[in-house]
Amino acid sequence: MSSTKAQSPSANADAGELLKFSELASRWWDPTSEFRPLHEINPLRLDWIDGLHPVKGERVLDVGCGGGILAEAMARQGAQVKGIDLAEKPLGVARLHALESGVEVDYECIATEDIAAREPAQYDLVTCMEMLEHVPEPASVIRACAQLVKPGGHAVFSTLNRNPKSFLFAIVGAEYVLRLLPKGTHEYAKFIRPSELHAAAQDAGLVLQSMIGLHYNPFTKVYSLGRNVDVNYIMAFSRPL
Ligand code: SAH
Repeated sequence: MSSTKAQSPSANADAGELLKFSELASRWWDPTSEFRPLHEINPLRLDWIDGLHPVKGERVLDVGCGGGILAEAMARQGAQVKGIDLAEKPLGVARLHALESGVEVDYECIATEDIAAREPAQYDLVTCMEMLEHVPEPASVIRACAQLVKPGGHAVFSTLNRNPKSFLFAIVGAEYVLRLLPKGTHEYAKFIRPSELHAAAQDAGLVLQSMIGLHYNPFTKVYSLGRNVDVNYIMAFSRPL
């Protein structure tokens, strides 16, 4: 185990996971690095989110923002974005990159549950992408995201489904065969079924709006969105008025 500490002892975070992302942080904006998949899916997920909840002029919180790939893109689209993460190094990279690209994003190292207590119902849109599968208690993050959204606003989550096909594609395929991601990036037991994400969101008072799958074609090397949610998927919820 690593000695890296999460920001606060009570934080719902896995220090080993945060260390993994910190060690890779310098390559976050290299589109040919381990983060290539995030760069390639970014325009797809941004369009999908923007279709559901146009981000221009909106107050947006990106939870588990890492180096800021989605946070910056939403800011470039005219949103007022805040990005949070519990790994300091990716946040440092995110701050520098925003400076270089002249995009304004406010980054902070804070636990989702802590910012939810500080800024309840302050955001029109909360995004939490490819993060829940790295967290000890995803339901607690989902609850915090629900608290952060204004009534009438939206919360969007993406993660990996849990079934034999997702094991084959997301772990064996992506980490061992195609080497899109470093070995050990993902742990199968932490994958989350859409039904589980839906139940946790419902418990938190959110209402399902829409869901879509994210696909990778290893032959054409092209990512696309589609109806099949067997592997990677995005779910959008609204907080009722
Ligand atoms: N959401 C970004 C980055 C995904 S990588 C994107 O999709 O482009 C996963 C990120 O989640 C990493 O930056 C990691 O540091 C962060 N993370 C993992 N556990 C976390 C936790 N408990 N709280 C906040 N961030 C966490």
